[in-house]
Amino acid sequence: MEDEKKYKNRYYSKEKYKTTIGTFVTGLVFLFVAILSLIFRALNITIFRLASWGFWLFIPAFFITLGGFQQLYTNNKYKKAVLQALMDRGNQGEYKLEHIALEAGIRPKDLLRVLAHLRDKGKIIYRFNPESGKIELGQKIAYVQSEEYIAPAKVDAPLPSGGKNFCVYCGHQLDGAAQFCPSCGSKL
Ligand SMILES: [Zn+2]
Repeated sequence: MEDEKKYKNRYYSKEKYKTTIGTFVTGLVFLFVAILSLIFRALNITIFRLASWGFWLFIPAFFITLGGFQQLYTNNKYKKAVLQALMDRGNQGEYKLEHIALEAGIRPKDLLRVLAHLRDKGKIIYRFNPESGKIELGQKIAYVQSEEYIAPAKVDAPLPSGGKNFCVYCGHQLDGAAQFCPSCGSKL
């Protein structure tokens, strides 16, 4: 109840957590064509008449790259907010995704991405509780090696799963009647 009061007036940020690599690649392509047009102009090359319009691409190249840096700034802001929220909890305990999301001001969907990213980078340790779907800070995912694994040389017949369940989203082996995947947190 106290939690509800604390988070009542918090809003999610409208900005999304997105990877920036695609943005920077697009910016580079525009920049490349713009520079190419200057070279064509200098050498009097008339292919696509690029020399007469290509330089205009400097404008989108600039704004696309700027957008990439803005996204990087947003991503870092989110990562800091999430790290702070986890640090405030001593990096341990079980929490609802929504509570951390509200505190950091990030939509739960974006929070999932930030968490997975931070875990990939080795900055945090957590797993999802397969029964409750809550985040367990400081807990490592218990990877279960499947003995029945067969390299899929032929996929004509369905592979024997030995009565074991796997997460359809990430392939993590599940034990028993888990409601949530301990690796990716997907509802099963
Ligand atoms: Zn999963």
